[in-house]
Amino acid sequence: MTDLIIVGAGTAGLTAAIYGIRAGKSVLILEAKTYGGQIVNTPDIENYPGLAHVSGFDYATALYEQATGLGAKFRNERALSVEDKGKTKIVRTRRHEYECRAVILATGAKNRQLGLDREEELVGKGISYCATCDGSFFKGQTVAVNGGGNTALEDAAYLADICQKVYLIHRRDQFRGDAADVEKLREKENVEFVLNASVSGLIGEGHLAGIVVKDKLTGNTREIPVSGLFVAIGQEPDNQAFGNLVQLDPSGYIQAGEDCLTGTPGIYTAGDCRTKKVRQLTTAAADGAVAALAACSEM
Ligand code: NAP
Repeated sequence: MTDLIIVGAGTAGLTAAIYGIRAGKSVLILEAKTYGGQIVNTPDIENYPGLAHVSGFDYATALYEQATGLGAKFRNERALSVEDKGKTKIVRTRRHEYECRAVILATGAKNRQLGLDREEELVGKGISYCATCDGSFFKGQTVAVNGGGNTALEDAAYLADICQKVYLIHRRDQFRGDAADVEKLREKENVEFVLNASVSGLIGEGHLAGIVVKDKLTGNTREIPVSGLFVAIGQEPDNQAFGNLVQLDPSGYIQAGEDCLTGTPGIYTAGDCRTKKVRQLTTAAADGAVAALAACSEM
């Protein structure tokens, strides 16, 4: 019997683990992939209080080492389901069943896809969702970034330093990401903004050779030859497996109160997987602390 099982080892989950351990509880973290969550792909974090500059990987590694160093157990297993047995819960993975007193769902979110024909087939063959992971394959080449948030802006800046040319395609003419980063991109000679536009088709057999871009104002389409397309159009939650015991909003995010408690006693949620307005490292960390302290106070 573990006191607290945390599903997901991103900022929210690892912060919850630190608070759970410091409250004197046993903590098991289950993570399907590697620790750290989405932030590991960010080259430089500039907005975490007290850390002027840190890479996402270094930040995530320090957080993981802090949580496990304090005594949290980490297992590389995907939580497939959670069963509510009243005072205890059963978390099932492919290999094990774990019993615990409380669960924190900190499942984060996954990359949203464009939904284009052959998009999945061309992943790894020109299409990528992570510029820092795959950008180096496109050194000296022409690529496109699709999106208007901070991820797209960071991706375009990173790629502009190693690629010959970067098209930044966004469906509006206003950016969701930080204005300061938009200005920095405008100063780069090899970045071309393609605004009020969407990627409507993929060209190339076996490997991406170009994209079809539709101007949303005129309806006209044009082909742009690129060898890489970096899709950075946000994230989607991955909570369907827990839909039987928590309330999901129409977009699939978990609904919870300010104490991070879902409608089911003993089941909490934290971080990007829950319904909220601001999804930042700071809000994920805050959720992790709130959820763990709420869960521990009920044990
Ligand atoms: P995001 O902020 O949700 O932005 C997604 C962008 O993709 C938006 O510009 C959106 O357009 C566009 N988009 C959404 N669906 C689309 C579709 N189907 N087709 C075309 N475009 C589509 O996502 P994000 O940039 O990944 O950032 C996620 C969160 O992480 C944000 O809170 C962000 O601030 C944070 N983040 C922070 C940092 C940092 O601080 N260093 C770095 C990266 C990310 P509209 O604007 O028109 O909706």
